[in-house]
Amino acid sequence: MAPERGFVPGLDAATEARLRQESSFLWVNPGRRPLAEVRDALAVTWADIIAAADRLARFAPLLAVLFPELAPAGGVIGSELLPVSQFAARLKRQGLPAGDAVYLKADHALPVAGSVKARGGFHAVLCVAERLALAAGLLAGPGDDYRRLAEGPARAVFARHTLSVGSTGNLGLSIGILGRALGFDVTVHMSAEAKAWKKEKLRSLGATVVEHPGDYTAACSVAREEAAASATTHFIDDENSLDLFLGYAVAGLRLPARLAAQGIAVTPERPLCLHLPCGVGGAPGGIALGARLALGDGALAFFAEPTKAPSMLLGLASGRHDAVSVADLGLSGRTMADGLAVSRPSRFVGRLLAPVVDGVFTVTDAAMAASVAALWRDEGLRLEPSAAASAAGPTLVRAADLPRLAGRDATHILWATGGSMLPEADFAAVLAQAPAGQEGDGEPAG
Ligand SMILES: *Cc1c(COP(=O)(O)O)cnc(C)c1O
Repeated sequence: MAPERGFVPGLDAATEARLRQESSFLWVNPGRRPLAEVRDALAVTWADIIAAADRLARFAPLLAVLFPELAPAGGVIGSELLPVSQFAARLKRQGLPAGDAVYLKADHALPVAGSVKARGGFHAVLCVAERLALAAGLLAGPGDDYRRLAEGPARAVFARHTLSVGSTGNLGLSIGILGRALGFDVTVHMSAEAKAWKKEKLRSLGATVVEHPGDYTAACSVAREEAAASATTHFIDDENSLDLFLGYAVAGLRLPARLAAQGIAVTPERPLCLHLPCGVGGAPGGIALGARLALGDGALAFFAEPTKAPSMLLGLASGRHDAVSVADLGLSGRTMADGLAVSRPSRFVGRLLAPVVDGVFTVTDAAMAASVAALWRDEGLRLEPSAAASAAGPTLVRAADLPRLAGRDATHILWATGGSMLPEADFAAVLAQAPAGQEGDGEPAG
């Protein structure tokens, strides 16, 4: 007889059973520590995140030149924090406590790239551009006028370099859009999940799209090897990149200002729950760490993953991080949430976030489709399934009776990570997958 397949060392039997059953549940992280205990030992510091925010500020005038839609905001890429009262009422009918408040962070509508990758992906490209520009003498230093990088001499330098990336779709799109705007050659290695419209858009921008039949990890390793063989190819390594992570973390750092503008206080007595869709972990990890450092222990972070690709949950719960794959549990990794369809987490995010993240919950494809439909119907928001995974968080977290939330009114933020660029037909196809009886049909509320 074949040996029993998939037993994961370090993973408790109850969690393993729930993962294998593909049921939706919240895993509560027993390793979560108060910030004061861990702050000084974290491998990523407040100063690192400030440095990323400063870099984005240096590049803002250039971005306003490259993308006219950014001119009104002076080249700053940000999104609103929206109250979602109709959707909150729906969650309250499903058991969310009456005193809780629900907001949505509209990164699905981030300008230029239409997803959270406009934070991490853009920052990673700007890191490469800045290094090359300083080395080539195109910039005298960080105080120089970065708008010069839109001119001929800089473009000629960038054109001799290739940006390479592995992607399930959105990361490639963000690297392609900004990389091509700066004049780089761009090669995107797409995994099987990637949607046709994202590939077409990239090709129309002049990027090279290489299609891989396998999963995300496989597409990345081909790209990584290719890049290692060339001095002028810069591989943006989603599974390993601190530059990506720091770009996302800036969103956490900026969160207090967004909260203050809405009159939302965050304290341990009035806790904030962030619900963050998770693929390899860079986006939710960066946002969670930035928010915890900016807001303190009143800010709780929960990651959302598909039941078919719970890679971060598996890595954290087993302590084995990227050494374990969802395939080891017999899970396919195939989900309609293309942005979250990864079988292994990042090599460093799980280890870094182990004392910071409060929990990870899993969501079925059917529930994601239902949430896409409900947020469209209730709030007129166009989200992709990956982004809508966050919507299951408030009720799952409340059902778990966490001591940190007991007897307190909480503020929930659903982090909407992508969707505004979805073509009409793709969006309609998602709505059509919402289970019958869900109020997904009809016109949105507005
Ligand atoms: C990339 C992405 C995520 C998750 O980001 P990771 O860094 O892979 O964890 C979530 N939602 C959408 C829409 C994405 O494109």
